[in-house]
Amino acid sequence: MHARRVVLNSRPGKNGEPSPGNFRLEQITLTPDLKDGQVLVRTLYLSVDPYMRCRMNEDTGADYLGPWELSECVDGGGVGVVETSRCSALAEGDVVTSFNWPWQTHAVMMGSSLQKVDSQMVDGHLSYFLGPVGITGLTALLGVREKGHVTKGANQTMVVSGAAGACGSLAGQIGRLDGCAGVVGICGSNEKCRALVEDLGFTAAINYRSEDVSARLKEICPDGIDVYFDNVGGSISEAVIEQMNRGGHVILCGQISQYNKDVPYPPPLSDKTQEILQSRSITRERFMVLSYMSKSEAALFELSQLVKSAQIKVLETVVNGIENMGVAFCSMMKGGNIGKQIVKISD
Ligand code: NDP
Repeated sequence: MHARRVVLNSRPGKNGEPSPGNFRLEQITLTPDLKDGQVLVRTLYLSVDPYMRCRMNEDTGADYLGPWELSECVDGGGVGVVETSRCSALAEGDVVTSFNWPWQTHAVMMGSSLQKVDSQMVDGHLSYFLGPVGITGLTALLGVREKGHVTKGANQTMVVSGAAGACGSLAGQIGRLDGCAGVVGICGSNEKCRALVEDLGFTAAINYRSEDVSARLKEICPDGIDVYFDNVGGSISEAVIEQMNRGGHVILCGQISQYNKDVPYPPPLSDKTQEILQSRSITRERFMVLSYMSKSEAALFELSQLVKSAQIKVLETVVNGIENMGVAFCSMMKGGNIGKQIVKISD
């Protein structure tokens, strides 16, 4: 049978913006005969994520991430359905996911590399396994829980950067549910600000492209900031940390503003910000969701309940077609998404 796949066509360079031309679409032929343990899957949804920018470099800068190889099929989070199985644990029609799903319309995979999922966990909304009831939701929930020190009744103010993105939009809602008195989002458009406040219940939102972040934070958070969920780094984060209270906590989730630059992770802070962290005893520990996988089953169950009961609202931006993987990835890196960026590959 024929399938289409996306391969890495070229690298953007450590100091470059990725472009759709870094990816190339190809036709391939899949052999119909499966070996023992293999399954044929049809891809339903694929995820595009900021960490993939590191995988476009020959040296990813992270020992837990391998580089994508030139002219080889690209992979990442995916969800699909089993069409044929020679794996005893999986049957035709099962819905499965993997962190290493090839960017292919159909693929032959080892059943043991796939996780079977229950579509009732997401009320049939299968793309949610890549977002709120998947690694994105885990990042938001466990990031807040493990590093945020949110305490009910403590009148804390939380700020989230990258707030209208996949993790940020969930992290702010979790901060509010866990007891923050105020949750302020920082994001890149007025439309995003509106969605945060009107649809997701954030207290306020700041458009960093058109507003003075420091001045607006002073206005909105006159008593200072206690918890900062940092997705972006750079000057936005320095402005937030400057207004943090003694004993506050930075959840160092990501630093997307620095991903097209040849800098180590986490990128160095200015001396002034470093001094603020020290003198005010603010913690800023690196958070890595993959270090907390022993907590994932309970956390995914909780996320599923929160989504099903609409205590957490989900935003998604969906693009259609495997031919648009590169476009969707580059658009997400520049803020084209509200909520989780998903690519729908088949019905
Ligand atoms: P998002 O859905 O948040 O998409 C990325 C967003 O980043 C864009 O929508 C854009 O929104 C914003 N952005 C891009 N460039 C800049 C910039 N220069 N300054 C400010 N904002 C920018 O992606 P995810 O939710 O998947 O990821 C969010 C963060 O979480 C990333 O840093 C990622 O690396 C990190 N992460 C960390 C994990 C961990 O284990 N620690 C696991 C998963 C993700 P806007 O319009 O607002 O600019």
